[in-house]
Amino acid sequence: MADRAALPGAAVRGAGHQDAVELIRAKRDGLTLTDAEIRWLVAAYTAGEIADEQMSALLMAVYFRGLEPGELRSWTTAMVSSGERLDLSAVPRPTVDKHSTGGVGDKVSLVLAPLVASCGAAVPQLSGRGLGHTGGTLDKLESIPGWRASLPAVEMTAVLRSVGCVICAAGSGLAPADRKLYALRDVTGTVESIPLIASSIMSKKIAEGTASLVLDVKVGAGAFMREIPAARLLAQTMVALGAEHGVRTAALLTSMDAPLGRAVGNAVEVDEAVTTLRGDGPADLVEVTLALAGEMLALAGVRADPAAALADGSALDRYRRMIAAQGGDPDAPLPRARYFTVITAAESGWLRRLDARAVGVAAWRLGAGRARKEDPVSAAAGLICLAKPGERVEAGQPLAELRADDESRLARAADGLAGAVEIGPEPPAAAPLVIDRISAQ
Ligand code: URA
Repeated sequence: MADRAALPGAAVRGAGHQDAVELIRAKRDGLTLTDAEIRWLVAAYTAGEIADEQMSALLMAVYFRGLEPGELRSWTTAMVSSGERLDLSAVPRPTVDKHSTGGVGDKVSLVLAPLVASCGAAVPQLSGRGLGHTGGTLDKLESIPGWRASLPAVEMTAVLRSVGCVICAAGSGLAPADRKLYALRDVTGTVESIPLIASSIMSKKIAEGTASLVLDVKVGAGAFMREIPAARLLAQTMVALGAEHGVRTAALLTSMDAPLGRAVGNAVEVDEAVTTLRGDGPADLVEVTLALAGEMLALAGVRADPAAALADGSALDRYRRMIAAQGGDPDAPLPRARYFTVITAAESGWLRRLDARAVGVAAWRLGAGRARKEDPVSAAAGLICLAKPGERVEAGQPLAELRADDESRLARAADGLAGAVEIGPEPPAAAPLVIDRISAQ
């Protein structure tokens, strides 16, 4: 912490009286804010008593100066306290959730929630929609005819009690400070800050009321965090915040250099998730899902074999019940795109790289994602990776199939994949999918 006296022109804060400008100056100058100051800032901003331009300046000061562990704890507590905290004490099984920092083709939740429920834990998964190149779990499930994302809290708890898992939208009463702060960060270049990301994610998960939480911190080309050290620091920060707020929390760092599985989009990912629940999923998706399931069951204190639950159909049965309980028809045909094209291999060799970010952007250009949070998404648009890194390909062989409702989208999406593919004479070096595990000290 900086010494206040050593900084010429540094802020001097009066006791008792709160002034946003003084607190902005203090953070700008590297001083440590008190618990009372942080709680006031977050509460006053949520109530509309601090202007967006002042909070923008404060966020930028946090971006450059960071938050000390005590400040981060206060910031997160203040965000949780800005809204309601769900009470899941009526759920008769141990509750455990999973949160992913976002990846391409990341349909893990669709398989994992029913899988862990079928093993005996309860999974209350409050999810979001996609923005930019990563997809959102709710957008994917909404491609199932009739399925409802918005459930009142009583209905959410009822589904959780009867089925053992629920995936639904977080209500507006949950950490409302985050909704305002995230929107402001999005337009002020302050998203990429570890304390701000950690407090944003953890405030929502703490408010959700789950007893345990496993974080899937994605790292690589298609992830928020491209480098392992930054991803590890984010994971450690979130695990510590969880422990401080009474949520048993662990994290896995998992690779997001290539898309997970082969399908990227909405309906296409639901289809691949169901194939996985039938026991026939792609190896990378199965590996990450089983690793996360093992962590969740261990935190929840449930002894069960998730691989067996995947193989014997009990996870699939749980998925079907969850979809039906939320108004969906698990047997209804999923929307299909009207237009298709393929991109092909320019040469023969080993597929060494299929850049996850470029594939995510291509799916977004096809219509599967949104640019602004009000935009609609296409259920049918998306992309199927017909080859994955580590596979041998021949010149002219289709590498990916692109699908869209609107033919004009195909060419621009295909163009975006031009630099995403690398084919070479040697197979790529084997790299682990699960890179590290972080647990509370
Ligand atoms: N996801 C969130 O919920 N918050 C962030 O700040 C970043 C990703």
